[in-house]
Amino acid sequence: MPSTTSENSLFHRDADYSYPVVVRGEGIYLFDENGKRYIDGGAGAGNVTLGHGRERIANVLADQAKTLAYCFSAYFTNRLALTLAERVTKVAPGDLNHVYFVSGGSEGIETALKIARQYQVQRGQTQKQKVIARWRSYHGASLGALSCTGIPSMRSHFAPWLADFPHIPPCYSYRCELAGCEGTCNLTCADELERAIIHEGPENVAAFIAEPIVQGHVAAAVPPPDYFKRIREICDRYDVLLILDEVITAFGRMGKYFAIEHFDVVPDIAVFAKAISSGYCPLGGVVFSDKIAESYASSGKPFAHVFTYVNNPLAMRVGLEVLDIMEEEKILEHVTEVGAYLQQKSREVLSQHSCVGEIRGLGLSLGVELVRDRATKEPFETSQNVSKILGQLLLDRGLSMSAVGGVADFTRGEDIRFNPPLIITHEQIDEALDIMDESLTELEGKLGV
Ligand code: PLP
Repeated sequence: MPSTTSENSLFHRDADYSYPVVVRGEGIYLFDENGKRYIDGGAGAGNVTLGHGRERIANVLADQAKTLAYCFSAYFTNRLALTLAERVTKVAPGDLNHVYFVSGGSEGIETALKIARQYQVQRGQTQKQKVIARWRSYHGASLGALSCTGIPSMRSHFAPWLADFPHIPPCYSYRCELAGCEGTCNLTCADELERAIIHEGPENVAAFIAEPIVQGHVAAAVPPPDYFKRIREICDRYDVLLILDEVITAFGRMGKYFAIEHFDVVPDIAVFAKAISSGYCPLGGVVFSDKIAESYASSGKPFAHVFTYVNNPLAMRVGLEVLDIMEEEKILEHVTEVGAYLQQKSREVLSQHSCVGEIRGLGLSLGVELVRDRATKEPFETSQNVSKILGQLLLDRGLSMSAVGGVADFTRGEDIRFNPPLIITHEQIDEALDIMDESLTELEGKLGV
């Protein structure tokens, strides 16, 4: 029987990884208990967008805890939630004028699925229950969200519990195998949605869900400008709701409040989380269109779905402060400017590495896909443990960012992802790119490529 010391009472997901004990954060940096400094190249989990150690947010959180820490949304509303909802809808695209606040991304996705399903039932479309999703996307850990998630390694243990939701390929032109694409997207991947809807029967399909820019099992895959326009047309043709998972993209990462603004398309429902509270407390939400809200208003029935922390005053107060800071510090403009610098400079610094197959991304989201052979795009073998080795090389040099394995074909291939806090400067981008450059050189030496 394992003993319970302070070292093993806490269950960590990966028993093979030695987790540094972090004690403090400041700006884009984290510090461990030995004083080692790390660039937080993933902005936490993509959420700490305004950086660590923001006293101003800590102060409003403390004040709010003293004034009103909690009231249950089933019995009361609160002024902070009313105000934050209004502010979110002001920056959301089109007629996404209605918000339901939750505590994070997975809760947001579950909520969006149920909003869509109850909407279809309310309008007499009771058969419409399937949700079509895309392979490679991550939509969350809870069972509805996992049913949408298209990452086999995350689904396999729990497959017997998952809903029967069909998946289509994402837009990932570097490795697209669909007819006529050959690395330059011809939107066949978007047309796959139409094929899937017809195959399932349009009368059975409630919604389609996608991330605007895939960040799951392939980093920062940006579709061409017309991809989402085609998707929107197909959804409209078959009376299917379009749900966008903007959990990691909304509130600034791509230089817009919602990344879909880059594609000039309005979804029916969008889910946000992470950046709305910059990691200072759990918060997420679902924003949806007038036609959906009207259906609920006229149905005479409440939405059959609630969580304890819906409209939590602490989270609402933090969300308001985050939006104020974003406006005052012109965060979107800053991301547009430093994001362009990151995209251009990363290509200059990293593309000379023979193991770099593709560099892609938008704004402050960068993905670097690694290959054994650039010409054939042949990935490294799983047994070479490239993502693990590279992740450690980066961490040793003081850069924490994710290195993910299996991106080429779900077993082989890897990429690294840089999604730093949105306040990062040019100099700090240079510092991070230097570390990536040195780490890739060391990796190439170890692999003999
Ligand atoms: N959707 C996307 C695109 C995500 O990136 C994540 C988390 O990383 C989720 C959903 C799930 O969010 P959470 O971990 O807050 O439940």
